[in-house]
Parts: sequence; C-alpha cells; structure tokens
Amino acid sequence: MGHVLEKVLADVCARWMRLQGDEVRFQVGTDEHGVKIQRTAEKEGITPKELVDRNTPLFRDLFDRLQISYDDFVCTTDKEHHWPTVIALWKRLQEAGVLQKRSYTGLYCSGCERFMTRRDLVDGMCENHKIAPEEVMEENWFFLLSRDTSWLKALLKDRKNGYVLEPEFRAAETLSLIEQGLEDVSFSRPKKSLSWGIPVPGDEEQTMYVWCDALTNYISTLGYFTDHEDKNFWENAKVMHVIGKDIARFHALCWPAMLKNAGLPVPPPQKLLIHGFLTNEGQKMSKSLGNVVKPEDVIKHYGVDPLRFYLLHEVPVGRDGDFSWDRFGKLYDAKLRNDIGNLLNRVLVLFQKENGVLVDFGKPDFITMKYDMYKKAMDAFDCSVALHEAVQIAVDSNRYIDEKKPWELKGKEKANVLSQLAEALRYLSLTLLPFIPETAQKISRQLNVPYAERMLQRDFVIGDLKAWGVCIDWKTVGKPEILFPQVE
Ligand SMILES: [Zn+2]
Repeated sequence: MGHVLEKVLADVCARWMRLQGDEVRFQVGTDEHGVKIQRTAEKEGITPKELVDRNTPLFRDLFDRLQISYDDFVCTTDKEHHWPTVIALWKRLQEAGVLQKRSYTGLYCSGCERFMTRRDLVDGMCENHKIAPEEVMEENWFFLLSRDTSWLKALLKDRKNGYVLEPEFRAAETLSLIEQGLEDVSFSRPKKSLSWGIPVPGDEEQTMYVWCDALTNYISTLGYFTDHEDKNFWENAKVMHVIGKDIARFHALCWPAMLKNAGLPVPPPQKLLIHGFLTNEGQKMSKSLGNVVKPEDVIKHYGVDPLRFYLLHEVPVGRDGDFSWDRFGKLYDAKLRNDIGNLLNRVLVLFQKENGVLVDFGKPDFITMKYDMYKKAMDAFDCSVALHEAVQIAVDSNRYIDEKKPWELKGKEKANVLSQLAEALRYLSLTLLPFIPETAQKISRQLNVPYAERMLQRDFVIGDLKAWGVCIDWKTVGKPEILFPQVE
C-alpha cells in the first residue's frame, strides 16, 4: 500500500503537468539489489535473480492496473541500461577522491538496508522494523559525504536556487541532520556479506551498496556516461522526486553531493516531494502484525479509481495517512456514489425527457470553487487540497439542483438549469482528470462531451477547456449509466 500511495501521488503530478501542456518524463522502477532480497531468496531456495524476476512483474502489473502513467520503468538489475552509468559514476567519484576504503564497525538494519547510528535507534531497535540491528565489522568503501556539509547546508538554505523539499518541515528536519554533523556513507560491502549487487570496479572483493546503485537511476535511463546520453530531462528540466520520508535524507543530501563530485549539475529547480507512511486503522502496517492491506483486495472490492480517490483525498501530501475499511466505505458512499455519481445520474435522467438537448450554459454563479485555487494547489502538488476543491463543484451543483428543483420546471427554464448542471459536470470531470482519470472520462462520455475520447491521451491539454461554455459544438448529452455501484 505504501508503494501505491507513492506511485499514485507521482502519477497525479505527472498527469497534471501533461494537462498543462508540459513535456513529461515519468520514471518509476524497482530497487532490486541488497541483502534483504538475497536472504529472502535463500529462504525460498531460489536465486535472487529468480526472486526478482518473479516479483518485479507483479509490481509492474499493479502499477499498470492503477493507471500509473509512467514513461520508463527502471530495474537496478538491468545490466544493459542501468549498470554502465553506475559503474562510470563510481569511477568518477573515485577520481574525485571522495571514495575511501575503511574498516568499519557499525549497526546494520537489514530491513532498512542501511547502517544506523545509536541516535537512530529507539530502545536499541530500528524504529521502522522493530528489530535490533546487527553489529557488523567489515571493510567498506565510504563516500565522504561529511566533506560537503557546508555546501549542502547552503544548497538547502538558499531560497532562490530552486532546490526545494516539500513539505517544509522535512526541509527543516534535513537541515537539522546537517547541523548534527553528517556522517560518511557506506557505499560498498564485502562480497561475502553482500553478493547480490553491482561489483565495485577495480575491487573484486566488494559489492556496491544500495545508495550508489539505486540513486543513479535518475540518470542511468538517460544514458549518462554512455554513447547515448540524453541530458534534456535532467539538465534542462524541472526535476521532481517523489519519495518516502524514511529515505529522504539520501535523496536530499547524498545524491546532490554525488552529482557535484562527479562533475554533474544538480539541476535547479529540483523538488523533492516527501510522502509519509500509511497506517491501518491507526496501527503501523507490518507483516509480523498481520495487518497489511493488500491493494489487490481494495481494487477487487471497490475498483481502481476509488482506491486512488481515497489515498489522494484522505492523505494530505507529506503527512502520514490511515487506511480504514470503514472510512473507505463512508467516503465511497458520500463522495463518489452520492456527490458525484448521483449528481450525474439525476441530471441525465431529467435530461432524457428533454431529449438531452443542451441550450444555454448560463453563468457558473452557483459554483463557489475557484479554478485559480484548484490550480494553485495542483501547482504546489497539494493534491488533497486540490481534490477537495474539485469535489466542491459536485457539492455546489447538488445544492443548486435542490434549490432550483428542475423537475418542477418546464420548457426553456428547465432546459437552462439542466444545461448549466451539465456544464458543471463537464467542469468537474476536467478537474478530476489527474486524480481519477477513468471516472473523469466516463463522466465526459455520458455527457457526450466532444473531446471525451481524447481525455486519456498524453497530449490532451486542459487549456481553454476550463472556460465556462467553451464547447460550442456540444449539442446533446448522452444516456445515464451508474458510475459507482453499491458495494456491500
Ligand atoms: Zn530498519
């Protein structure tokens, strides 16, 4: 479910940028190396490669069903598309003198796949995994992150360089990490403790550790340091990362320092959107507690769009959120079935007696939701705020219907009210499009909006379509169909 929250959030951002007419490259992927995978495979009596080849398609299939509109899917085990860049980057860091081999004693959490300091522990245990980390003594290559302390501090503090961490309290948190003193980062482990990974160039006894390997995905699929480099989406683009709060420090500190030392630009503006965790009925989800919610179960019960809607509506971006079946059911009934589904149905049923003919769209006086507010929230990727704004169109329209009682009206007056409501529904479907794309299209199809069939295409742009009454070639509405069925 955590993966779903992250990918859905990233998808809404990508879709919004496309709807604004931006050229977008949306990259997702799987981090496939590491001790955790190695050990899980051992337990199952298969090779890590077999484990990865079994699991990655499951993730990919889930993302596809969730309508995650990614442009590229990166696997860190991809020797052809990922490894060459990682190996070249390692060599650059080595040439820059920021990699150093040391013998090291540390506390390692295999769940987090990282070394921890005593400061990170709660009652001697990893806070995320509730296990005591293992004490490990070994030789490792270290990336000398501490050298870049003041540079990183300046990068984060400078308000004008476009390097932004969202939400803002994460930026403050990260700065305080710097203030406490940055430690160098383990970049490799001996082959005997970690064999499943990219071999360190020039040191056969060592395997690269997750950070150098996985962070490099941002530029490996752009072919950096190969003969097919495409720098456009890194050096000339607005770059945005959507990541979890548990690994924010590596993306926010380690990665820019790696780029800088490898002689690459930290592309400004660069934004890190840092999401929280999801609990189940207020409790941490974990396999040991047996309370993990499977997205497949939710999809089977309610469908894809209700799951997307729930996560985006209920989890303020950057904060922790909660999954609750009870809350899910209530939200489904109140917002999706009632506010949105029922509105569409009422309007189209009433229209049938008028042969579905649209007349005058009138003015949007009864809509309190302001597009500017919605856009402002979307541009700030404040998705839950923007979605609440969108749903307000339905709330306002329902109030208008109750006020005007079109079923008691006749002739032109009735047709006018219904046409206004149809236009409000068209407007609603545009604002819902980044969040619940298939539902947005279904609404527009039932309304018989001329552009309905194009709405899910990547080059579809909102542009002037947001203006009231803009579709002059839209003459009739279609027949009503149930948008969200009742779910037991
Ligand atoms: Zn852990």
